[in-house]
Amino acid sequence: MDGDLLQIDGSFGEGGGQIVRSSVALAMLTGRAIEVVNVRAGRDKPGLRRQHATAIRAAGQVCGADIEGADVGSCRFVFKPGVVRAGDYRFSIGTAGSTMLVLQTILPALLVAEGTSRVTLEGGTHNPGGPPFDFVERVYVPLINRMGPTVTVDLERCGFYPAGGGSVRVRVEPAAGGVLRGFELHERGGIDEKLARAIVSNLPRHIAERELRKVTSVPWWGGSRAFVEDVPSPGPGNVLTIEVRAVKARELFIAFGRRGVKAEVVAREVLTEARAWIDSDVPVGPHLADQLLLPLAIAGEGAFTTMPLTLHATTHIELIKRFVDVDVTVEEVEGDRRVVRVARR
Ligand code: ATP
Repeated sequence: MDGDLLQIDGSFGEGGGQIVRSSVALAMLTGRAIEVVNVRAGRDKPGLRRQHATAIRAAGQVCGADIEGADVGSCRFVFKPGVVRAGDYRFSIGTAGSTMLVLQTILPALLVAEGTSRVTLEGGTHNPGGPPFDFVERVYVPLINRMGPTVTVDLERCGFYPAGGGSVRVRVEPAAGGVLRGFELHERGGIDEKLARAIVSNLPRHIAERELRKVTSVPWWGGSRAFVEDVPSPGPGNVLTIEVRAVKARELFIAFGRRGVKAEVVAREVLTEARAWIDSDVPVGPHLADQLLLPLAIAGEGAFTTMPLTLHATTHIELIKRFVDVDVTVEEVEGDRRVVRVARR
């Protein structure tokens, strides 16, 4: 074993795929070579799945890394980063692997690289268990842009599990001088607008219409907007999103239509998540919380108010502290509100 390798135990905390992606993202950013062992030991089928292997390889291309063992099924891999190069990239994930999780791996390094990057990602755009394109576009990217860079994401074609075939174009203009600025996000303000979108592809339109009928029938929906989008995609797919725009923050929730599950049940799933955020009165929902930790750690400053942290987020905090000299504190305020603060040590 190479003594210079930072060893990461992939079984700690949640023991899932985020440890893999974030370790690689942080290795690219810090230039630290890593050895990740016990990969996804917390999951039913441990080891790298195709989306993780693709993310590692994509990251390898962006920084000219030496990689060992990043094959599907592997429980150990080594990633020795080189220099991050901005430029034009195309990553075809194959099948319906999540394009957004590959982006999550390579974006942090591109945000502080020298020069503009244009990245085309092909695969799944709306995957259960990963950030959907709409969340990245409407919630995550606007906050990243507040930190200095100019990132744009364009959905060229939707890709749903299992056929995939989606395509996303991303343009990354890094922050001036390659330095990210942190932000403070504690207030949400009143709700300005709610927006439901029922997306269908190669499936009867009435599925989407039934989902929206359920959404618009709940009393708190009020007269908010709801519309069906029939989109082209190589395979069938149905997702229902609810975007909630408040004065100072925005969130987006999603539920996935699937065989054997009634449209009304799908609607109830997303309504429950959206309602939990609305009632919480915090600006940052659980998924966004775990995804803001890494960019704020690179900035070395910033804070936000969220709900009680998921195991996912606490695992992420421990991992980030292995690479970056920051303190991350979580303060409990008023019941279910938590203030997460990142500060340089
Ligand atoms: P594993 O297969 O090991 O469970 P994984 O690699 O598929 O792991 P996770 O480790 O669970 O994925 O990480 C998934 C990422 O996707 C997290 O950053 C999480 O916040 C994000 N995510 C999941 N669902 C959503 C959603 N509905 N909206 C926004 N982000 C989401």
